Amino acid sequence: MKILVPVKRVVDYNVKVRVKADGTGVDIANVKMSMNPFDEIAVEEAVRLREAGIATEVVAVSCGVTACQETLRAAMAIGADRGILVETDVELQPLAVAKLLKALCDKEQPTVVIGGKQAIDDDSNQTGQMLAALMGWPQATFASKVTLGDGVATVMREIDGGLETLEIKLPAVVTTDLRLNEPRYATLPNIMKAKKKPLDTVKPADLGVDIAPRLATLKVAEPPKRSAGVRVADVAQLVDKLKNEAKVI
Ligand code: AMP
Repeated sequence: MKILVPVKRVVDYNVKVRVKADGTGVDIANVKMSMNPFDEIAVEEAVRLREAGIATEVVAVSCGVTACQETLRAAMAIGADRGILVETDVELQPLAVAKLLKALCDKEQPTVVIGGKQAIDDDSNQTGQMLAALMGWPQATFASKVTLGDGVATVMREIDGGLETLEIKLPAVVTTDLRLNEPRYATLPNIMKAKKKPLDTVKPADLGVDIAPRLATLKVAEPPKRSAGVRVADVAQLVDKLKNEAKVI
């Protein structure tokens, strides 16, 4: 059983991003980039399934600029067997990524795609769902437990107010939530080993995919600054303020 894991290169979650002065986006020049945290969880899950003898191969895929090679090496240091870079300088929107992943699924024939539930840069939460739709495959998003059986996957999902367990037929798309696992730290020997693992590069045109953006960003702005709080003297004053100023009770 082959598992395909899409991994996105995003601004590191510790970085406080700044909006560009012209409001066209956030400034990513000289900013630390890392693997999307949900994708690390996806790689970890796929590697655990291979270590348990359930999967035979874990293939990491990243779409974007040449530097996405680093993201693929990071996935291979966690334990992915090989990497595929779909190289382009064009800004990729979720539909374009889903189409690229579809082309790779047609070629690689994985039994399951395990991706992140969302990328922390655009927060789209769309790519896995779009891929499932394009493939005509079942999907189980926001997974907090995944069990792969004979032709089926049982997936526990995080939903509002509880957990839902689904059984879906394979091949399928699964997307990860935070509680699925805690990704391991890549050890130095594994980082060294990852440098020697196979990494193929293809272009979107090789896959016959039109990646032209369909959406235009009109403006990006900082959220409004929070005004300073006030210290109230007693409960009566608090209740008065909640009633007459905030008007929430
Ligand atoms: P999004 O729909 O943008 O929130 O992304 C959801 C998931 O799709 C991510 O966690 C990744 O697993 C995958 N994905 C999105 N963009 C890319 C990309 N450029 N390369 C590889 N995987 C991606």
